[in-house]
Amino acid sequence: MEFRLTEEQRMIKDTARDLVAREIEPVLAAHDRDRPLPQAAMLKLYAALEPLGLMAPRLPEEVGGSALPYLSYGLIMEQLPAALGISILSHESTTTRIYLGADEEQKRRFLPALVKGKTIACSGISEPNVGSDPRAIETRARREGDQVVIDGTKLWITNGTVADLMVAVAAMAGAGLDRAEAKKSTITRIVVERAHSPYQAHEVAAIGMRQGHLSEIVFEGCRVPARNVLGEPGDAHQALTLTWLANRPLVGLMAVGLAQRALDACLAYVGMRKQFGRHIGSFQLVQQMLSEMLARIEASRLLCLRALALMDEGARSNKEAATAKWFATENCLHALHLAMQVHGASGLTDEVGLERLFRDARMLTIPDGTTQIQHLIVGQELTGFRSFRS
Ligand SMILES: Cc1cc2nc3c(=O)[nH]c(=O)nc-3n(C[C@H](O)[C@H](O)[C@H](O)COP(=O)(O)OP(=O)(O)OC[C@H]3O[C@@H](n4cnc5c(N)ncnc54)[C@H](O)[C@@H]3O)c2cc1C
Repeated sequence: MEFRLTEEQRMIKDTARDLVAREIEPVLAAHDRDRPLPQAAMLKLYAALEPLGLMAPRLPEEVGGSALPYLSYGLIMEQLPAALGISILSHESTTTRIYLGADEEQKRRFLPALVKGKTIACSGISEPNVGSDPRAIETRARREGDQVVIDGTKLWITNGTVADLMVAVAAMAGAGLDRAEAKKSTITRIVVERAHSPYQAHEVAAIGMRQGHLSEIVFEGCRVPARNVLGEPGDAHQALTLTWLANRPLVGLMAVGLAQRALDACLAYVGMRKQFGRHIGSFQLVQQMLSEMLARIEASRLLCLRALALMDEGARSNKEAATAKWFATENCLHALHLAMQVHGASGLTDEVGLERLFRDARMLTIPDGTTQIQHLIVGQELTGFRSFRS
């Protein structure tokens, strides 16, 4: 068992941290912290991150991917501001979903711009009536000659308003809305290029990650060339599950990054702030809060990195990924709550920045499977009893 990062891994982490300070933070600071960034700013950030291999970390080099080990990807993800981290995750997992099942012509058509971060991608799975149970998708697609016509609404789509293309997950015609029929699976991935197949996209305001883009997408008779359909009709779930697996510890590491920044801020604060004539850092109850934060953060980090390391070894690590996701997002959120407590009233204001970290972290217990869904995945693996469809 080895608990130290290698020299190369340390270098990757340091490089990412420096790059964020040098090239990412100034762009974020130049824009309203509570408004979605314009697409041009997003593309600038993507260009800055492209040399780290983040546009297509899961793809092989022959198609322009960086084939980054998952562990290295996780080390970088921890350093990224959350709104950007979730955007990159959405972009690159969409790119991976295209790669998995695309024929050679589709790969040639879609991948080159995506792997360079010249265009932005998103995945449309969730809908107003569809969240934790993606098999119940209501968006419909039907063949009309050499086109596919899509009708339906997608909700909570990261990158939705700034994306050039979406992998829309829809039930191909023939599927009924009832579950028995849907079970035969007609759930299919379709690449929708916004310039050629326009759709409506609106921002949805949420508690955190406000420089990012959480969107509602409406397809009304949206016409897409039939050659944009990926893989076999009905095979979407497999590609989604494969990408969700690694996404879980990666989202966990976003939470770790937020909580670590909060702990660093606390350590500086308790050495300055005085009450009762003493630094608050000398009070045992304050030290207890710091100690608890540290334990929650470090345990979270280790679980996430372990899940990713197992994936690098080729293990499926479903249980480990699910554990890492719920534990890290919930515990880092609690660590942020403690960080605000350490700062007293000033921790609640927007001057210190903790409330923003807290609001960002609050977003992370939901995507890529809620905390409850992660528990069900773990429970199923532990007991062998299936408590929900997976
Ligand atoms: C920041 C963020 C980014 C996102 N990005 C995307 C994206 O890019 N693309 C996309 O398609 N979607 C995206 N989503 C949507 C996300 O995938 C869904 O929000 C998530 O799957 C949960 O669905 P829901 O919100 O509809 O909640 P629901 O599924 O309605 O769940 C509501 C509550 O019920 C619980 N619950 C549901 N089923 C069970 C069960 N069987 N047993 C016990 N409890 C259960 C849940 O845990 C939750 O507490 C994003 C969401 C967020 C917050």
